[in-house]
Amino acid sequence: MDRTPELLIDLDRVADAYRRFTDAMPDIAVHYAMKCNPHPAVLDRLRALGSRFEIASASEVELLMRLGVDPAEVIYSNPVKPVAHIARAFTAGVRQFAFDSVDEVRKLAAVAPGSSVIVRLAAHDTASGVPSEGKFGVDVDAAVELLAVARSVGLRPYGIAFHVGSQMLTPSAWRAPLDAVRDVCLKLQTRGIMLTLVDLGGGFPATYDVPPPPLPAYAKVIENGLSALPYPVRAVVEPGRALVAEAGVLTATVIGTALRGGRRWIHLDVGAFNGLMESLETGNLLRFPVRDSRSGARRALFHLTGPTCDSQDTILFDVELSADLTTGDVVHIGSTGSYTTVYASTFNGFDIPTVRCVSSGYAAVNRKSDSASRINGHLGPTERSGSIETKSDLGYARRNGM
Ligand code: PLP
Repeated sequence: MDRTPELLIDLDRVADAYRRFTDAMPDIAVHYAMKCNPHPAVLDRLRALGSRFEIASASEVELLMRLGVDPAEVIYSNPVKPVAHIARAFTAGVRQFAFDSVDEVRKLAAVAPGSSVIVRLAAHDTASGVPSEGKFGVDVDAAVELLAVARSVGLRPYGIAFHVGSQMLTPSAWRAPLDAVRDVCLKLQTRGIMLTLVDLGGGFPATYDVPPPPLPAYAKVIENGLSALPYPVRAVVEPGRALVAEAGVLTATVIGTALRGGRRWIHLDVGAFNGLMESLETGNLLRFPVRDSRSGARRALFHLTGPTCDSQDTILFDVELSADLTTGDVVHIGSTGSYTTVYASTFNGFDIPTVRCVSSGYAAVNRKSDSASRINGHLGPTERSGSIETKSDLGYARRNGM
């Protein structure tokens, strides 16, 4: 490795995660939520496997088009969009837009006439690991009214979407929103409106410190909810984290150690601001698996923090690592393929991680492995990696307005 911090993405693990989805939910189309990791090599691998995409801005669809993705198959799921972005996406060929307000209906009617619109339902009754929900979505009656308004201004009432919140460890969290979808469908039927699509959102979990429930458990709840709808619909999911988190290992260097009030601190060249923002978002509850280069038999608990002079920069409290870990040693942080570098800033003048994508042959070797070895397995892809497919820095995303 030339320098740290570096995020290594194993594209074969992305492919394996995608296949796990299509195996568990064969009748449901996957629209990858590219916001969580828009690296072109990740997008390209998923595109090649047949994945579709979900976007939150016009810049995202423009990036997808450069990779040969058909905009007609892209869902623009951000319920509130700048008018200029709607216009750019519509001109590009995007025809499926989410919304949850009358204001948005007016904007869409004006700059994306005739488009298929998807109302966003509220779905935040169950706590998720990374609480991101609560901002969007309306109740059943409002959803019915909004779709009727959409029809009255020449838009096509097309579907219903919801998002249960990221890292959702409770499969039954999909049950209540799907009941609400059923109610919306029934009420719309009395007005002569039939919907085509149910968008089940993202929220499917990745493995951090403990394995989450298996995907088939989620598929079962979803299947039950869909089969209770008054008529068949096309169903899609928008996974982000579940497809790419476990494919990433962030390697960082220990830049200093300290003993403060009896507590051992390790300072790394990566922290919440330049790569691990979700530490901050979750109050340090997202337990990334961590390993160090010493792998010493004598262990100690450390607080793992970042390089800035800001005390909010801490990644994890009480992580067990080699007791003799010291400046210059290296730490590997697993499950860092999603919502990491894409959130990163150069706050305090510290570099954001370079990103390197490899193909390790993971699927063939590890497909049958149990969850524990999966956790350990994805902490060391460098040792197993095959050809290096691409190397780029995140300047790419910034240059592309993301
Ligand atoms: N769909 C929508 C509308 C979202 O807002 C998000 C994440 O914020 C996702 C999908 C992806 O979520 P996750 O990465 O938890 O699968």
